[in-house]
Amino acid sequence: MDHSEIEHLKQVPFYAPQAGEVALFEHAFAQRLPVLIKGPTGCGKTRFVEHMAARLGRPLITVSCHDDLSAADLVGRHLIGEQGTVWTDGPLARAVRTGAICYLDEVVEARKDTTVVLHPLADDRRVLPIERTGEVLVAPPGFMLVISYNPGYQNLLKSLKPSTRQRFIAMTFGYPDAAVERAIIGAEAGVDAVLAGRLVDLATALRRLTDHDLEETVSTRLLVMAARLVASGLTLTQACQAAIVDALTDDAETAIALNEVVLAVI
Ligand code: ADP
Repeated sequence: MDHSEIEHLKQVPFYAPQAGEVALFEHAFAQRLPVLIKGPTGCGKTRFVEHMAARLGRPLITVSCHDDLSAADLVGRHLIGEQGTVWTDGPLARAVRTGAICYLDEVVEARKDTTVVLHPLADDRRVLPIERTGEVLVAPPGFMLVISYNPGYQNLLKSLKPSTRQRFIAMTFGYPDAAVERAIIGAEAGVDAVLAGRLVDLATALRRLTDHDLEETVSTRLLVMAARLVASGLTLTQACQAAIVDALTDDAETAIALNEVVLAVI
């Protein structure tokens, strides 16, 4: 099944830069270099790629990778139709043909043999051989390959093969600085600076906690969600409970500890 989405963004989506990543991406695009973005969930990787695709005027094809994703899911397959079998491009072949940016989100989830199809596209050759049809697609200048993954806790056992990762230039993302994160919350949820500031103070306190069974700490995405609940009329405590505490953990003791931080800070 094809889980990809194609976006042709007319407006450039809002993206608050952290440190030089916009220029770095533009240089990578100009030099036709593929990019790997590493960072925790909800820190702005996808938004950044959407922003850059719109800025560079390229269509964006996004694939959310999962452990069942096969090479055929990316490249394409023969499908049986009324007129017999017809070849149907997968999202990667479509991106190469149309000169789009192809973004493979959480690429380490995909099976190892799947990522091998990226190799000839991710080096000087910039080609996609389609074995089934005998075609060799040559990527036009507008094509760019971008992959991302979260190097955090849950991926200790999963990583990219060196032969794959050494074909990409890498960018490391983290949660934004306090001032940038306040601006993001304000812009995304339409809340005032005071509320945005309280949520960022809370995030700072929660991100300092290390001795709890959290796979990952509070993301910018969760802070935006909490702020939206407040903008919609919930109290800050209710919003933090739903969008932060319960969203982060299933463990009752951990939830109590997180709640204490919430009550102490907000
Ligand atoms: P990731 O792909 O890293 O999991 P996303 O790009 O989906 O995270 O970010 C989640 C949400 O957080 C976005 O929808 C947006 O509201 C907000 N966000 C995070 N970082 C930024 C940023 N730098 N600029 C604008 N919005 C951001």
